[in-house]
Amino acid sequence: RGSCPRPEDVIQRYMEAVSAAPDEDCIICMDQLSSPSSYAAPAADEGAQSIPASAVGKFVKCGHTLHMLCMLAMYNNGTKDGSLQCPSCKTIYGEKTGTQPKGKMEIYSIGQALPGHPDCGTIQIVYSIPPGIQGPEHPNPGQPFSCRGFPRFCFLPDNHKGRKVLELLKVAWMRRLIFTVGTSSTTGEPDTVVWNNIHHKTEMMSNLSGHGYPDPNYLDNVLSELASQGVTEDCLKA
Ligand code: NAD
Ligand code: ZN
Ligand code: ZN
Repeated sequence: RGSCPRPEDVIQRYMEAVSAAPDEDCIICMDQLSSPSSYAAPAADEGAQSIPASAVGKFVKCGHTLHMLCMLAMYNNGTKDGSLQCPSCKTIYGEKTGTQPKGKMEIYSIGQALPGHPDCGTIQIVYSIPPGIQGPEHPNPGQPFSCRGFPRFCFLPDNHKGRKVLELLKVAWMRRLIFTVGTSSTTGEPDTVVWNNIHHKTEMMSNLSGHGYPDPNYLDNVLSELASQGVTEDCLKA
């Protein structure tokens, strides 16, 4: 995604400096907002000098306050994609992106109905990701990562809500949010491609893993998981 904004500019785009520090603690460093952030800018990094250690910022939408330098340090620890997430309430500012490696998302149509959705056919999503070398955004840059159980096959009912979920999953894929590189909680293997907080149904006609049908709450659950990554219906209007 083209240009990479300066971290201080990202902070100042979504937080406004407040003149009187509220009598509260900073949720990042746990110190009082009236005392300075301990994340002093490194002397060599002249850009960061534009935010003083005493600066308290207020998020423009949710209104939560914290040290601006604490938020800057948190931003610099992440994917630095130009977006911020309020650490208090998780409101997302800008477009959150993830660390999913390169791969392919393919969509197919299946005539057969899913258990619990007798009145429509099925959408099949096939995710393929080949093994590779971890980038700077991954836990061990320069080391290889593995890919287990790919291609992974996933299923949605081919009805109105299922198609909406599909469109939002395509947005999440483009934003690199479906998978990440980390340690598999199923196998314990480190440096491998794993699901990233957006649940998929990987069994079509059985439910041996608990990731199958029927599940009357699935579409609503995955819509709220998508929303907590900043992927909502608004993304489809733009
Ligand atoms: P993980 O085990 O770290 O779990 C991450 C998330 O994925 C969790 O929220 C979990 O609920 C969900 N999840 C776990 N198993 C799932 C499944 N079968 N279908 C859909 N969601 C599932 O994530 P992971 O390492 O990506 O493993 C998830 C699944 O991937 C495994 O259960 C297995 O089906 C498959 N896998 C296959 C191999 C293989 O060699 N064939 C190896 C590793 C994983
Ligand atoms: Zn702080
Ligand atoms: Zn907030």
